[in-house]
Amino acid sequence: MAYDFDLFVIGAGPGGIATARRAAQYGVKVAVAEFDRLGGTSVNRGCIPKKLMVYASRFASHVQEAAGYGWTFEPGKFDWATMIEAVNHEVTRLNGIYQSMIDQAEVALYQGHARLADFHTIDVAGQTVTAEKILIAVGGTPSKPNIPGIDLAITSDQIFSLPQQPKRMVILGGGYIGCEFACVLNALGTEVTQIIRRDNILRGFDQDIRTEVQDAMIRHGIRIVQDELVSLEKHDQGLRVNLKNNTMVLTDVVGLAALGRKPRLDHLGLENTRVEVENGAIVVDAHNQTAESNIYAVGDCTNRIKLTPVAINEGCTFADTHYGGERRVMSRDNIPSAVFTTPEVATVGLTETQAMEKYGEAAIKVYRTRFRPIYYTLPQLEEKTLMKLIVHVQTDKILGAHMVGDSAAEIIQGVAIAVKMGATKAGFDATVGIHPSSAEEFLTLR
Ligand code: FAD
Repeated sequence: MAYDFDLFVIGAGPGGIATARRAAQYGVKVAVAEFDRLGGTSVNRGCIPKKLMVYASRFASHVQEAAGYGWTFEPGKFDWATMIEAVNHEVTRLNGIYQSMIDQAEVALYQGHARLADFHTIDVAGQTVTAEKILIAVGGTPSKPNIPGIDLAITSDQIFSLPQQPKRMVILGGGYIGCEFACVLNALGTEVTQIIRRDNILRGFDQDIRTEVQDAMIRHGIRIVQDELVSLEKHDQGLRVNLKNNTMVLTDVVGLAALGRKPRLDHLGLENTRVEVENGAIVVDAHNQTAESNIYAVGDCTNRIKLTPVAINEGCTFADTHYGGERRVMSRDNIPSAVFTTPEVATVGLTETQAMEKYGEAAIKVYRTRFRPIYYTLPQLEEKTLMKLIVHVQTDKILGAHMVGDSAAEIIQGVAIAVKMGATKAGFDATVGIHPSSAEEFLTLR
């Protein structure tokens, strides 16, 4: 049977676009559907605008630090509307870049919500098209807990278009998105209360890292409260956040629900196919294949690691396998990640707890250092960097590398290459450092 397309991709986020472009490079006929702006969560409501806001937020401390180096500045003034406009301007520029990437790759774009009519047929923008293979890359949306008044809270999606900077803000949740926005808003001058269910933020990260960054966030002025949200209600002084322990917090009109994200599977027509869904996510095998043999899925709509480079990698692996004659499976070991809090967190490999569970306490050796980077000496600030290596005693292999501190993401990205290549502690020891730098401390751990 002849189909309109060899491959139809639903969703033009990082996963979908990477797949479509790579497949088109191999000469197949590809289409992509998108109902929103091109670039997906990452470009429009995630990685990029968030990182730009992180940069904006760090100027306040740079001004303070500069005084230690002899610079004096007139008292500065931050304008939220200017930042939001600049960030969104950049997002629009990136939308255009995505459009030209699609055009150059000769990928057909259908602007509209795509719905599967059956396993080869898609309804989109009032048209019906067929494809031999379909790739679902619909990503996710923030999920809101079912709590009275929760609609009074905004999600991370809306933060990028808030017309005014809130004076006070309650952030619900201790995951990485909540922590990043807590740090951004705090540094910009908002009074931030972060409500977390457990005793530490950033569940899943190494315990030392969690403690270090949480202590630093508290030192920087964020109020972290361990409690649970019961309800939200309007109050004459803004919004009243009622908590389980009979306490409450008054905040501005704005509260941010940062309680996780769920795959965007509503109205996708999955019921017209044999695609299986478990815990709200599309079930795929190591080759991104669903239970419907010609339908595949990548990125945040599957139940795997939800990061932009992972979605891209999954998509490229799919295209290489099906159209590039290179059957491969994406390696999921040692995927590095960062949290753009202040101070920054970055990590690769196993946490100390994971390593102990996997190999036993006696089989691992932990190296740790905590120091004040030279940059903070003249401003006489107590900002600290923490570095940690988890080493397998028998093989000397580095099982995990973790860092809290300036440029952690940039440093760990380099360390991750070494770890991925099977670096040993002896290899780290034998590497000559770059002096003076923080990164060199990874090479002198004893
Ligand atoms: P998405 O980027 O969500 O793209 C899916 C696209 O599909 C969307 O454009 C959507 O409109 C479209 N779509 C959905 N349904 C349909 C349909 N039926 N028809 C047509 N189109 C449809 N990751 C990092 O690696 N680093 C970070 O620093 C980072 N920061 C983040 C910060 C925030 C606030 C958030 C929310 C996420 C962040 N992420 C980060 C995660 C990252 O954004 C996602 O992992 C990544 O965008 C997933 O890509 P994707 O292609 O799977 O889905």
